[in-house]
Amino acid sequence: MILVDTHSHIFSEEFDSDRSEVLKRAAEAGIRYHVLPNIDSTSTERLLSVSSRYSQCFPLMGLHPTSVNKNFEKELRHVEEMLAHEKFWGIGEVGIDLYWDKTHLSEQEEAFRHQLRLAKKHGLPVVIHSRNSFSEIFRIVDQEIDASLHGVFHSFTGTLDDYRHIDEYKTFLVGVGGIVTYKNGGVSNILPSMDLGKIILETDSPYLSPVPVRGKRNESYNLIYVAIKVAEVLNLSVLDVAKQTTDNAVKLFKLPIT
Ligand SMILES: [Zn+2]
Repeated sequence: MILVDTHSHIFSEEFDSDRSEVLKRAAEAGIRYHVLPNIDSTSTERLLSVSSRYSQCFPLMGLHPTSVNKNFEKELRHVEEMLAHEKFWGIGEVGIDLYWDKTHLSEQEEAFRHQLRLAKKHGLPVVIHSRNSFSEIFRIVDQEIDASLHGVFHSFTGTLDDYRHIDEYKTFLVGVGGIVTYKNGGVSNILPSMDLGKIILETDSPYLSPVPVRGKRNESYNLIYVAIKVAEVLNLSVLDVAKQTTDNAVKLFKLPIT
């Protein structure tokens, strides 16, 4: 069985003391590849040093919505410069987050739109972070969507209507993570209405640990609990879920995996 953790912050400080062991534990459980979304210019160096050291890690470049403030234009220039000089597998993570702070909503919207256009320009998939912000995100994607814009709504926590809206774009997948194992998470209720061909799996580690390790530091090994839960809800084997979602992830990010 091969699984791809399509959203991991393994480059973050939380893993400085045991990163190799974490990746080894994951690989032994079949989680062989990791997609690493950037946060902002202060995390780029870590992102690149981890992905050059570990060939199973694929870096993305982007400015996270919670790092958007008055200086966002400088941050966007950094994103563009990096895209010009290094190989990245997508744009991310980008989007709008109104859970932590609404102060910079207009800046967040502008940074998001700009990075959607970068994704189109570079022909790269975009990883969208949306928290308490589906209507703001949809308004912008509705305006920017074309045949070249494609990607994933990561850590999907929306309603069935939100899922249908995403499905109508035709070129977007949804990322399912630890929240699917939470009783009040909602995702498991609409999962049976979702198309497995549209789903990729993720941990968002070190955040959002699934049951039975909820509350602890999350790591890629725990993707196994997400796969098991998805299989259980859809009444499929874990192997089938792994095969299809890995296929989806490899296609979306064009991962060089045989
Ligand atoms: Zn993330």
